[in-house]
Parts: sequence; structure tokens; C-alpha cells
Amino acid sequence: MQKDHYDIAIIGGGMVGATLAVGLRNALPDNVSLVVIEAVAMPDESLFVDAWQPSYDGRSTALAEGARGIFEGFGLWQSVAANVEPINSIHVSDRGHFGMTRIHADEHNVPALGYVVDNSWLGRVLLSEVQQAEGIEWLCPVKVKSLIPDPEMMTLELEQGKALTAGLVILADGGRSGLTETLGVDVDVSDYGQKAIVANVSPARHHQNVAYERFTDEGPMALLPRAGGDCALVWTMPEIIADERMQLVDEDFLKELQDRFGYRLGRFSKVGERFSYPLSLRQSREQVRPGLVVLGNAAHSLHPVAGQGFNLSLRDVQILAQVLADANQAGKQLGGLDTLLSYVESRKLDQQQTIGFSDQVVSLFSNSSAALAGIRNAGLLSMELLFPLRDWFARQAMGLGR
Ligand SMILES: Cc1cc2nc3c(=O)[nH]c(=O)nc-3n(C[C@H](O)[C@H](O)[C@H](O)COP(=O)(O)OP(=O)(O)OC[C@H]3O[C@@H](n4cnc5c(N)ncnc54)[C@H](O)[C@@H]3O)c2cc1C
Repeated sequence: MQKDHYDIAIIGGGMVGATLAVGLRNALPDNVSLVVIEAVAMPDESLFVDAWQPSYDGRSTALAEGARGIFEGFGLWQSVAANVEPINSIHVSDRGHFGMTRIHADEHNVPALGYVVDNSWLGRVLLSEVQQAEGIEWLCPVKVKSLIPDPEMMTLELEQGKALTAGLVILADGGRSGLTETLGVDVDVSDYGQKAIVANVSPARHHQNVAYERFTDEGPMALLPRAGGDCALVWTMPEIIADERMQLVDEDFLKELQDRFGYRLGRFSKVGERFSYPLSLRQSREQVRPGLVVLGNAAHSLHPVAGQGFNLSLRDVQILAQVLADANQAGKQLGGLDTLLSYVESRKLDQQQTIGFSDQVVSLFSNSSAALAGIRNAGLLSMELLFPLRDWFARQAMGLGR
């Protein structure tokens, strides 16, 4: 039953908001009240895979090795792991050039470099946990229309006409509902002029748990191993080309993919439903205010080339849950600015490094100039030859870089 006031309100039950809810419920005592407000109705469990929901759609996510530890800490890994495919090696290449490198898990003393999970599965695990947990109120479908800050608490106006208050609001709305803007939080957006086409594809050969990262003159593409031998394709390209390719019949789409990717996995025979996403680097200039934290894609959304966006947010979630638990134990207000600033401070370096790493990979590998192609090849060749360089790249990709 909806109350009038909660200690913590999370706006958005997507991948980030739902994970935080579970993390907070574990970290805080039962007397701290917690609500998650999600705008879009979640499909019935049995319909999950086919139904559309913004966070748990037809994509797959590459979870870095570091993410496994965080899910373990929240008691979620066992359920997530029931349906993941490990990445045992990463093969990086540049179309039309010699340079390539391979990164193997055993070289880095980890069981896997990462794990590929369907977003629909992650959604099923996270939401059943959130909905079943005692002490998490789940309001859905309920849209937050506006947020009104007061010195003591935040007022959340709901589209259905009701309102509630919270001592601390976590804004995990993916950054698309306009709430950050209405609060006057400035957002830096730099448009990559690219779109990602995402689909599941069936190659003739089994992927053997290899993730392929291939750079082309149009932009990077990734083929991630899925359970059963299929691959999850994330193919980035200029917007105009993406719009054309989205219109192609399956056969012609697969021909173009084959031409760009080559025959490492044999012939592609089938492509599932295609989705396309415009790509930009979006960073909120403020992540905290008294009584407010901006989290997940609302705080920073990255190019998917290096598969870092959700992994970075998971590390934010882990630290935020810890900082709030410590503050609560010390008898401090959860929405107090000092507490929230200490969270931001401890996340600064990782966020800067991860965003910088993703952005530089995009700039270096989405350019057709001959000079940059030379640098790329030199880079990939030296990575193949020099273990420390390969180790550095692998640690960034695994979310263990810092
Ligand atoms: C093509 C592509 C591939 C990617 N691959 C990877 C990868 O391999 N690895 C990786 O780490 N990351 C990857 N990412 C990034 C990852 O998808 C994002 O980091 C993640 O989805 C962010 O989740 P979120 O919960 O912050 O936002 P969202 O997923 O956008 O969820 C926001 C939620 O808030 C709800 N909401 C919005 N407004 C309101 C409101 N007013 N009231 C109530 N609820 C509201 C929405 O309905 C939604 O459920 C990829 C991204 C893309 C585009």
C-alpha cells in the first residue's frame, strides 16, 4: 500500500534502479522505508522475452568480471548466472588491416573476462527480487511527473494525480523523462552521429566463447557469445547508414554484415528482430544535490563500444549503497549533502577513467583516415606483442582497471 512518505524513493525500475533497490535493502535496516516507482508496466514473467520494456528489451549486456563480484555481494549472482554465457577470450581486429590482438581469461587469472546476459533475463531476475523482497514498495505502472525540492524532503508528483514525499530521491530514469532538465541540472551531450543496430545472429560455427570486437571504417561492431551458440550483434555506424540497414530484408542485412565481419564464424544464416539506438555521450554536470542523487544513464550514458555503461553504473550502485549504509549507522540524514558529496568524490576517478576510455576507443576506431588506421594497427600489433599493454586493456574491459 502506497504511503505518503518514504526514506528513499528510486525513480525508475530499470537495470540500475532495480539493482540499487536490492543493494539498499541488503545494506540498510528494515526500518528504512524504500519505494521504487516505475513508469512502464512490466510484462508477465512468461511474456518477458517478447514484450517491450525500455531497460529490459531485446539487447544483451556484457557484464565485466568486476560486475560478477557486485552481483555476488547483493546475493543476485546465482540467479543471474543461471542464464549467462562466459567470455573466455576477446578477439580485437581492424577491417582491411593486419593489426589484431587476442585477450584470454587464463592469461589474467580470472575464470572469465566477462559474461553475456540477455537484458530480458536480467530483468526477470531483478524484478522478481524487487517484487518479492519484504521492505521494497513497488509502484508500477506509475510515472513521476515532477520533483519539487523542499529543504527537508522532496515531493514527487505522480501522473495519476497523487503525490508522495521522500528524504532522498534517486533519479534512475535513464535520463529521458525530462526530470533532470526540469530540476535545472545541466547535461552535457555530445552526439556521436552514430546509431547502434542490435540483433541476435546465428553463425554457422559455434562462437567458442569468444567475443569479437571489430573496427571498421564506419564504426565498431561487437559479436558477443550467447548461450546456445548464437551471437549478440552490436553494430555501430553513421545514422544514415543505420536507417538504411534497418530497412533491409534479412538476407541483404546478413550479406552486409558478412561483408563487414568476414567469415571467422562461417556464414551467418539468420538474424532476429533488429533494434536501433542513437548514440551520444551524455553527462550530468551535477550528480547530487541535498536529497537527490542522479544515477545510471541519467548521470552518464556512454557509447556501447566497450560495453562499459552498465558496468560503471553497477560500481556507482555498490559504493552508493555502502555510503548510505554507513551514514545511516552513524545517525546521519540519508539525503544530507555531506554524505552525498562523499559518494560523488569516491566515484570521480573511476567515472572519469571509464568515460575517457570508452570515448577514446570510439574516436580512434570510428575514423577512416589512413594515419589513424596506422596508429590503430600499430596499437593492436603492439598489444599482441606486449603483455603489459594487453593486460591494461583487459583490466579496463573487465572493470578491474583501478
Ligand atoms: C546498444 C547498447 C548496448 C549496450 N551494451 C552494454 C554492455 O554490453 N555492457 C554495459 O555495461 N552496458 C551496455 N549498455 C549500457 C546499458 O544499457 C545502460 O547503462 C543501462 O541500460 C542503463 O540503465 P538505467 O537503469 O540507468 O536506464 P534505463 O535502462 O533507461 O531505465 C530507466 C527506467 O526508468 C523508467 N522511467 C523513466 N522515466 C520515468 C518516470 N518519470 N517515472 C518512473 N519511471 C521512469 C523507465 O521506464 C526505465 O524502466 C548498452 C547500451 C546500448 C544502447
